[in-house]
Amino acid sequence: MTEQAEGTRTAILTVDDDGGVSRAVARDLRRRYGEQHRIVRAQSAPAGLDALRQLKLRGDLVALILADYRMPELNGIEFLEQAMDIYPEARRVLLTAYADTGAAIDAINVVDLDHYLLKPWDPPEEKLYPVVDALLEEWEASEHRLVPETKVVGHRWSARSSEVREFLARNQVPYRWYTTDEAEGQRLLAAAGADGRALPVVITPDGEALIEPSDAELASRVGLATTPSGDFYDLVIVGGGPAGLGAAVYGASEGLRTVLVEQLAAGGQAGQSSRIENYLGFPDGVSGAQLTDRARRQAQRFGAEVLTTREVTGLEVRGSARRVKFADGSFIDAHTVLLATGVSYRQLHAPGLDELTGRGVYYGSALTEATACLGQDVYVVGGANSAGQAALYLSRNAKSVTLLVRAPSLEKSMSYYLVKRIADNPAISVRTSTEVIGASGGDHLERLTLRDTAAGSTETVDAQWLYLFIGAQPLTDWLDGVVVCDARGFVVAGPDLLAGGERPRGWNLDRPPYHLETSVPGVFVAGDARAESAKRVASAVGEGAMAVMLVHRYLEKL
Ligand SMILES: Cc1cc2nc3c(=O)[nH]c(=O)nc-3n(C[C@H](O)[C@H](O)[C@H](O)COP(=O)(O)OP(=O)(O)OC[C@H]3O[C@@H](n4cnc5c(N)ncnc54)[C@H](O)[C@@H]3O)c2cc1C
Repeated sequence: MTEQAEGTRTAILTVDDDGGVSRAVARDLRRRYGEQHRIVRAQSAPAGLDALRQLKLRGDLVALILADYRMPELNGIEFLEQAMDIYPEARRVLLTAYADTGAAIDAINVVDLDHYLLKPWDPPEEKLYPVVDALLEEWEASEHRLVPETKVVGHRWSARSSEVREFLARNQVPYRWYTTDEAEGQRLLAAAGADGRALPVVITPDGEALIEPSDAELASRVGLATTPSGDFYDLVIVGGGPAGLGAAVYGASEGLRTVLVEQLAAGGQAGQSSRIENYLGFPDGVSGAQLTDRARRQAQRFGAEVLTTREVTGLEVRGSARRVKFADGSFIDAHTVLLATGVSYRQLHAPGLDELTGRGVYYGSALTEATACLGQDVYVVGGANSAGQAALYLSRNAKSVTLLVRAPSLEKSMSYYLVKRIADNPAISVRTSTEVIGASGGDHLERLTLRDTAAGSTETVDAQWLYLFIGAQPLTDWLDGVVVCDARGFVVAGPDLLAGGERPRGWNLDRPPYHLETSVPGVFVAGDARAESAKRVASAVGEGAMAVMLVHRYLEKL
């Protein structure tokens, strides 16, 4: 049995199998320390260990543990030994009878005992409080911090651990990362009852342990919305990048019942950008995560619903309603739909790369992993602005950054200001006409094979980190046959649909499609997913806002 009084998050635990003594210790402790400490009382050693594990999972601190020496399942010394595995920094006191003084003295060595108290300790003012005061003072003088946030325990080179960290970071959920080879990581795993084979283990701020959770499970436990609250909306936005967020802000602020559905985390590609320097109004640049997090909060403040970890897998026309469907059979109906699904990085298919993805090989996730590259050699693949930004960002920590570019020069594909900054940075070297043709390693990337396409030669280099930012492809397979797309899968809209003066097949209105309207009336597209779009943050935001204006026009004539 355990009993605790609510108070601060720092606890004092007392364990005694004798109910009367246990209550008396707790009462005396509570009288003097109850205001500032939570007094947790356990009436057996196993119950005491359970209480400690719970406190550990919740991120509470334990300042002091008082254990009776004579207990049936484990004696006080054995109990304190196990308690040390959970809270090594807590001060330890053994409660003993006079006859057990010898055992108490032995315990000073076995469990590094701070003190032993002879029973009875009356009056506490003389025999108990001075001892506890001194121990608490000592404990407070050493550095302890409360850890109320989410904790992730994982393996340094596990792909899923890396994905979970990325997911939490992109959803602005603060977390603390522990590897399985550090003592605190092991303690947390033990407290969660996990054997460490299924990783990562995520411990929520209220102490729940999630073993190898899916994104959807994580989202719901860390307080992100995953299901719509309404039955019918004016506007469903698919995709939470700048275009979708722009539309959500304008749609909701102009009174449209608006829901935004995002498959991963709001922010899109822009959320992965370390520094956006060409967005209007930010002369010193702004991190993509900061910009898009503000946009998400702005949209929600106006009343837009933002659902995360929900991938839209189908679009259907049902009379005047438009239905977006999910893989689990659920759906959302609305008058209008905005497709803002952007683009994603293409995978590079070279031997070894797939196996090492998440273990030294990353697609566009430089921000989360950057600190791990401290003092090491890093390779970045890509010739566009995203690769240039990543190289500059990574060069702050890495010993060297090598930018691998397939084309013979950078100038055609990268903005001038980035090319210049890279040239001026001594930590970055650029290898043009170079391709990655293979990767190898054990637990983690160790080597890359590079081909110089100009010279026709190959070379193997030591490499622990490879970040790929290559080409973009639209995420529109699920729209196949529903809306008109170009040969590369980008959604065609507005005047571009009227090739040869013909309206799109099945178009049954007496007006031509509006500017951002697809071949299905009431379904719009904005941002990078649109054929011939500018592939910039500002233009995506602008198109999102403009789409809302066209949605109003469409609704007026409905
Ligand atoms: C690293 C990096 C740096 C960049 N730097 C700059 C810069 O400095 N300046 C600049 O102007 N541009 C920059 N860009 C480009 C810019 O970020 C993009 O042009 C912009 O993000 C496009 O916005 P979007 O909303 O159209 O699409 P995206 O940002 O691609 O967002 C689309 C969203 O839709 C979601 N989605 C896709 N399919 C589905 C589905 N079926 N169901 C639910 N959700 C779905 C995706 O998960 C994604 O979150 C950069 C890009 C990257 C990757």
